[in-house]
Amino acid sequence: MSELLDEELIDDEIPSLLPLVPLRDTVIFPFTMFPILVGRQATIDAVNASLEAGSYVFLSSQFDAEVEDPGEDDINAIGTVGKVLQVLNLPNNTMKVLVNGVDSVFMNSLKKVDGVMYADTEPYGAAPPNKKDAPTLNALVKKCREHFERYIFINEDLPEESTLALDNIEDPEHLLYYMASFLDQNALVKQNLLNEPELLQKYKELLTIFTTEIDVLTVSAEINEKVQEEIQQNQKKFFIQEQIRMLQEELDEDNFGDPDLARIKDQVDELNLPDEARAKALEELDRLRKMPQMSPEYSVSRNYLDWLVSLPWGNTTDDNLDIDDVETILNEDHFGLEKPKERILEHIAVLNLVEKMKGQILCFVGPPGTGKTSLANSIARAMDRKVVRIALGGVHDEAEIRGHRKTYIGSMPGRIIQSLKRAGSMNPVVILDEIDKVGSDHRGDPSSAILEVLDPEQNYAFNDHYLEIDFDLSQIMFITTANVASNIQPALLDRMELINLPGYLEHDKLEIAKQHLIPKQLKAHGLQSSKVKFKDEAIYEIIRKYTAESGVRNLEQQIAAVCRKVAKKVVERKRRDKKLTQFTVNEKRVRELLGVEKYRDRSPDKKSKIGSVQGLAWTSTGGTILQIDVAKMAGKNKFLLTGQLGDVMKESAQAALTYIRSHALEYGIDPTFFDKNELHIHIPEGAIPKDGPSAGMAMALALISLITDRKIRHDVAMTGELTLRGEVLPIGGLNEKLLAAQRNKIKTVLIPEENMPNLEEIPDKVKEGLTIEPVKHIKDAEKFVFE
Ligand code: ADP
Repeated sequence: MSELLDEELIDDEIPSLLPLVPLRDTVIFPFTMFPILVGRQATIDAVNASLEAGSYVFLSSQFDAEVEDPGEDDINAIGTVGKVLQVLNLPNNTMKVLVNGVDSVFMNSLKKVDGVMYADTEPYGAAPPNKKDAPTLNALVKKCREHFERYIFINEDLPEESTLALDNIEDPEHLLYYMASFLDQNALVKQNLLNEPELLQKYKELLTIFTTEIDVLTVSAEINEKVQEEIQQNQKKFFIQEQIRMLQEELDEDNFGDPDLARIKDQVDELNLPDEARAKALEELDRLRKMPQMSPEYSVSRNYLDWLVSLPWGNTTDDNLDIDDVETILNEDHFGLEKPKERILEHIAVLNLVEKMKGQILCFVGPPGTGKTSLANSIARAMDRKVVRIALGGVHDEAEIRGHRKTYIGSMPGRIIQSLKRAGSMNPVVILDEIDKVGSDHRGDPSSAILEVLDPEQNYAFNDHYLEIDFDLSQIMFITTANVASNIQPALLDRMELINLPGYLEHDKLEIAKQHLIPKQLKAHGLQSSKVKFKDEAIYEIIRKYTAESGVRNLEQQIAAVCRKVAKKVVERKRRDKKLTQFTVNEKRVRELLGVEKYRDRSPDKKSKIGSVQGLAWTSTGGTILQIDVAKMAGKNKFLLTGQLGDVMKESAQAALTYIRSHALEYGIDPTFFDKNELHIHIPEGAIPKDGPSAGMAMALALISLITDRKIRHDVAMTGELTLRGEVLPIGGLNEKLLAAQRNKIKTVLIPEENMPNLEEIPDKVKEGLTIEPVKHIKDAEKFVFE
């Protein structure tokens, strides 16, 4: 303390030992006045101590504002000596201190005297320039002043009077700090300015800061101005439009502000609209004219009118009902399919006789890729009608068919009305694809809407929720498709005439490939059919090893894959200036182009086995062979079923077991067998869900084979439901099942006797090479099955 008193006594000069006032996030420049809020006790003590000795403090900025009790390493060594001008004690033990920056100083060390932190300092005034640089300094000062004035001018937060003081300050260092104190910069930038030892350099730095500040301010002012301008423009436009609208309303009732409205009005006049629709259109137009264009309702109404005028009101195409023409086109587009073609021709013959055929909706039923959609397209082409397809798979919501009310934002008509817009005529062929996959759940039941669409008693006035006015669907020719008829909802099924497309035999597929798929794909890939040839062996190779299907969809995809690869080869040869004269796709090339075969040729096991039998199943992808394996192991009264079997199938397995147990004596089975053995039925390819009762007989025979230790012939396949008394009941999907048997080189097929009449409808080619044996009771089957 004595040291301090000595110093103070010498002069009112600034002492070198100064109480420390650490600053957070700010720098106080010399020659500027600044209020600081002091909260830390150590700082309050420092301020109080300063008041006892000349009121000078050392103001230094902390490196890290978070540090509560800064030491020597936590504060900048270069700071400002400040004179405390005024102290105001505030509640909560804080004080407001007004300081005036006096000069910059350098701190040598910090020490604690009587509990107060003091900085030992020495002057750190900026070095003035040498004589030679004096003019540079002058120029810089001038430039800086100009920039400062500009900065104050464009900065809306600073008062213009701030520039008045400039004329009264002569000392360039003083002037520099005065201007710098207005900067809106962080503590680091300010500290750097303070640290810089040379005045000339300080000015250069300040000039740079002002230049960038001015740039930033100018750009943001420009942006503000633009935004402002745009808002004004929009308001102006809106205002003018409103005025035009009102003036026009006064002048002329028939004029429209929006040229699009005038266009819609013309369309309404030209269209052959029914009275109800015309009235509705005119009413909407009138509403639109009176509505401001900016309002959300305007776009709802506009959208509605756009829909209304884009529908094919009264537009129809002329039908070609010439049976010969239709037949030619159906034959051109499709190989085989005699029965379906004949049914279609009959249908068209009737159309020749009656004007409107009621309740005659064709439904093509069959596995994927059997030509259902393409046959429907072909009918449209033959009759010269437009065609549109509506995919119904996974449609759960009635609104998808019938539309949402137009009050909902973004609502649209349902799929039926949308498809008519696409068709552009009132009498297109509409293909309702996958009608068996229409779902009904908590989201609603679309089938009642579909029923209304298909019902000739109702569909002349179909009401779409969006359109709100009736639309006549009665001239549409609906054709539906389904994979499995039994999945179609009964009410819909009632309305339809089923035409089966069960699938193709190998040689049908060969012909379809040769006559249709290959020419189509060659063309699509820009290849000439004269230059690229497919050998029959190659096509068979693709059918057998790269596809496993009843239809020809995968076959077409694989042929497309071959074409793609051939096309690549052609291009590569061209690049090497070699011409590809001929490219023949043979069996070897198929393997080269398509890679590893996807399906092994499933020739049945060459050996007869115990407990393994070939059932025949019918899935939505066509018929397949169902391998049924049974095994026994030590255990008691347990019956395991695996391979993703549905409930009906599990029950029929139980029934098969019950039949065997109740007839154990007849089969010579030891009555204690079931007490000592567990049985397991497995149907491989577990990824495919299987269900239905038609494997009952097959499962029973597999069990009998296992329990009585008799081998089952490997080339026999069978289908039939079994009763508890061993009778064999009829099944569905016979055609598909026989196709699967053929594909898998089965020789003998056992079918329920009651299914025998169905054989008549099945083409001879499907039955070729198969011995089909009727069975009435499982006993009849045994003689064909066991060796
Ligand atoms: P689906 O609708 O039954 O699933 P698609 O009609 O889409 O099957 O038929 C798949 C492809 O096979 C189409 O390119 C189609 O032209 C062709 N196709 C199917 N059957 C025949 C056939 N009998 N003759 C010619 N091409 C056929």
